[in-house]
Amino acid sequence: MARKQHVYQERSQQRHNSHVRAPQEHNQQVRAKKKTRNARMQDQSARRTTQSRMTHRIEGSAIAVIGGGAAGLMAAVVASGALEVRQDGPALPSSDAHYRQVTLYEAQNRTGKPILVTGAGRCNITNAQVSPSAYRNDAFVAQAFSKCPPSQVMDAFSLLGLAIYEEDEGRCYPVTNRATTVVDVLRAAMLRAGVEEQCHRRVEALEHTPEGWYVCMPDGKEGPYAAVVIATGGKPAAHILPDDVPCTPLQPVLAPLKIQGVNLRPVNRMRARCILSYKEHSEVGEAMFRSDGISGIAAFNISRMVSPGDAIVLNLTPDAQATSDGQGETFFARRAEQIHPHTWEDMCRGLFLPRVGQIILSYAGLSERDAFDRDRLPAFVHAATHMELTVEGIADPGRAQVHRGGVDVSAIDPHTMELRQYPGLFVAGEGVDVDGPCGGYNLHWAWASGLLAGAAAAQKLNQQKLAQRKIAKQKLARQKLAQQKPAQQKDDLQ
Ligand SMILES: Cc1cc2nc3c(=O)[nH]c(=O)nc-3n(C[C@H](O)[C@H](O)[C@H](O)COP(=O)(O)OP(=O)(O)OC[C@H]3O[C@@H](n4cnc5c(N)ncnc54)[C@H](O)[C@@H]3O)c2cc1C
Repeated sequence: MARKQHVYQERSQQRHNSHVRAPQEHNQQVRAKKKTRNARMQDQSARRTTQSRMTHRIEGSAIAVIGGGAAGLMAAVVASGALEVRQDGPALPSSDAHYRQVTLYEAQNRTGKPILVTGAGRCNITNAQVSPSAYRNDAFVAQAFSKCPPSQVMDAFSLLGLAIYEEDEGRCYPVTNRATTVVDVLRAAMLRAGVEEQCHRRVEALEHTPEGWYVCMPDGKEGPYAAVVIATGGKPAAHILPDDVPCTPLQPVLAPLKIQGVNLRPVNRMRARCILSYKEHSEVGEAMFRSDGISGIAAFNISRMVSPGDAIVLNLTPDAQATSDGQGETFFARRAEQIHPHTWEDMCRGLFLPRVGQIILSYAGLSERDAFDRDRLPAFVHAATHMELTVEGIADPGRAQVHRGGVDVSAIDPHTMELRQYPGLFVAGEGVDVDGPCGGYNLHWAWASGLLAGAAAAQKLNQQKLAQRKIAKQKLARQKLAQQKPAQQKDDLQ
């Protein structure tokens, strides 16, 4: 793998250098490179076809992790023994510890790719205020967190050498402000422990046999594994799971909302501080308007709660706290006394971006040029602080940060992430029907569930080894007895 990484660096250097060459020469080189790459790929695929449907037997007991995202990398680190999980939390292994045999299968060309885009490339790794109540299926999450408290995730990263700092609202980031640093520490630990990283390997199914689990791919199957951790993220897990594992349908959440009833086209691509409310729940944050809806953290968090047809309320005043809870009239009456507006445009100027002011006035049935009228103030205040928007649905499902749904929590042991029906099969991360708000909660779940699954898979392997040793001892004892018996019979005859 070290070689692969080296090649990757070399390629990026070449890519960098290519910018300074003449375009024609550059194009020729690109074509030549493409040709070589295609030839190599054809060669590989030809080799795979001849090996087609072959079974590759893993010697000795082992663990497979499917998916090299957040949950899979953490599971591989812990399952291999690069981090031990003891009663009081994670610890580094002793110098004479033996690492366990772990293979990590990843469909993409590199592990850790989904982590790189998180937190706009900075990776909002966790939240200092993480609590089970923030998550869907909170009772299940509470049980998982009783086994792996949030502090243990921080401890695990700290032992791996990652320095983390805390920003507003408990959001935690690596001090480098680069998601690559998070991937680097996880991969370094994993590779040090000898985890075999297999990229470009999309697992299509699992096969359960008396000797263990087999991981099936288009070019054959590998196994048997004593334990398999499925960490394939939100969408793909269902293909791999046995058919009778109960799954909740998938639904994109933490995504922009599509809105009806108010024309938001004039404020397309604009941002404004706001309070966005649904029923009793309010989110303070920045609204990012689209022509068909509203995006930004507040809208993302509300998207976890609403269904099409629900009404949400937008308070657009920047001093939102001062205008919430019925304080709006006092706030705007005071403003009118201070600035003596001649028109409604005067009332908006300096407080709202001009186009944001326009949609407020239009909602109130007012126009910028109309003379300011104290009697119309309640309608204006209502529009500015209680603009009702009807949710049509998720505006852009492809941009959803998380998929709700996946393996039903009733099918999983929350302390180990093992499927109750299938001993030795574990599921972690977004594939479990657990999701949380923005702010580091979803990655936290991926780390915590990956850690639990990795530790339990390691335990399963240890148990299997002990059982195998016991069987081997019994076999040896029986063989010895069988050898002794003829000798004894001989003695008896004499
Ligand atoms: C743009 C964006 C920004 C985000 N920012 C944040 C943030 O800042 N903080 C936060 O907490 N959360 C954030 N999230 C959510 C967070 O990224 C996910 O909750 C988290 O990555 C889920 O981890 P996972 O390991 O379960 O799945 P993933 O990270 O999706 O990893 C799954 C891996 O499995 C591989 N895979 C899939 N199928 C197969 C197969 N059949 N065989 C082999 N490999 C397979 C995939 O290629 C992938 O590498 C963000 C999400 C997005 C999209």
